[in-house]
Amino acid sequence: MAGSGKFFVGGNWKCNGTKDSISKLVSDLNSATLESDVVSTSVLLIPVIQLLANISNVLPSTITDVVVAPPFVYIDQVKNSLTDRIEIAAQNCWTGKGGAFTGEISVEQLKDLGCKWVVLGHSERRHVIGEDDQFIGKKAAYALSEMLPQVGITSLLSYEPVWAIGTGKVASPEQAQEVHIAARDWLSKNVSAEVASKTRIIYGGSVNGGNCAELAKQEDIDGFLVGGASLKGPEFATIINSVT
Ligand code: PGA
Repeated sequence: MAGSGKFFVGGNWKCNGTKDSISKLVSDLNSATLESDVVSTSVLLIPVIQLLANISNVLPSTITDVVVAPPFVYIDQVKNSLTDRIEIAAQNCWTGKGGAFTGEISVEQLKDLGCKWVVLGHSERRHVIGEDDQFIGKKAAYALSEMLPQVGITSLLSYEPVWAIGTGKVASPEQAQEVHIAARDWLSKNVSAEVASKTRIIYGGSVNGGNCAELAKQEDIDGFLVGGASLKGPEFATIINSVT
């Protein structure tokens, strides 16, 4: 990966699941072996004095950040039953503080539930619900200002060709790499070289257990956003383990 953050794997559960199916998925994820955890145990070998000094870095020493985004109504269930190794994202949020906005969920409410991440601007929100750049921009600005420290430090930018989402047609590693380089170049020229290097550019669109390893080898692919395959615990674990 060319970005300076850790590899990132996000599971977007979209509008799927029931209490029972989610309980099974969580149990599969809890019992999965995540190779990056095996690597992280080496941290425990460092001297105690150094471990104490670096205590806040123990979790980040894992080599992949893993996040799942359940539907809002199941966030609490997942938060209370899923291993702490995997963090929770919401699939949407409101543009500002809560109040008289029927059907919306505020950033403050997400924080109250322990959510540290939010997915914004997904193409399904744009094409099916009709959200435009301006509206998404307001949400992103508010979430960045109020939410999640991680988002402020290393935000995520995702390239997802719409023809690849949910179709089983994945971009070739070379195609994805080409677009990711172009996005990083754009950030470098239009924002700054530092932001270009700190921003993780992740790929989404029919990532599965069979194609993740080749995609992950591409220098500018800093992670994945996974839809369908994130609903299958063992396959999602394979994707998490694609970088070891
Ligand atoms: P998919 O969805 O993996 O099912 O193609 C990806 C996404 O929409 O984020």
